[in-house]
Amino acid sequence: MDDCIFCKVIAGELPCQKVYEDDHVLAFLDIRPINPGHTLLVPKQHAANLLETSLEDAQRLMEVAKKIAPGILKTVGTESFNLAVNNGRSSGQVVFHTHMHIMPRFPADGYAAWQRQDDKHDDLASMAEKIRLQLAS
Ligand code: AMP
Ligand code: ZN
Repeated sequence: MDDCIFCKVIAGELPCQKVYEDDHVLAFLDIRPINPGHTLLVPKQHAANLLETSLEDAQRLMEVAKKIAPGILKTVGTESFNLAVNNGRSSGQVVFHTHMHIMPRFPADGYAAWQRQDDKHDDLASMAEKIRLQLAS
């Protein structure tokens, strides 16, 4: 896609610090890492977000994450990481070419991912029912 930063990285028109590549997936260091070793995995086939990505490419991203995460973690000296896909603007997605983040984590590194809220769980049963109905329709 013409205006897509990650398509340009994949095409070699923009530089990246590559850590892994195969026929379908490229992995490179995030230019603004939350921690050392923060890596992005992108399908070479452009899609704006995870839901628009083919099932095959989505599976490939997970396969590559499983393959390369141990090496990333060993390199930076930790056993912990977050695996994340931001999907849509409100989630924090700013690059609209599907990508998976592997984010190594360290004790007390200050990147608490979610603030869970006790006052938002009173209606779980009705929410689950609504989602089941939606999935069945
Ligand atoms: P997201 O918020 O999930 O869309 O994440 C986009 C990520 O891409 C951010 O963490 C950016 O730091 C990273 N990023 C943007 N441009 C580049 C680039 N040219 N090379 C590497 N990482 C990039
Ligand atoms: Zn793209």
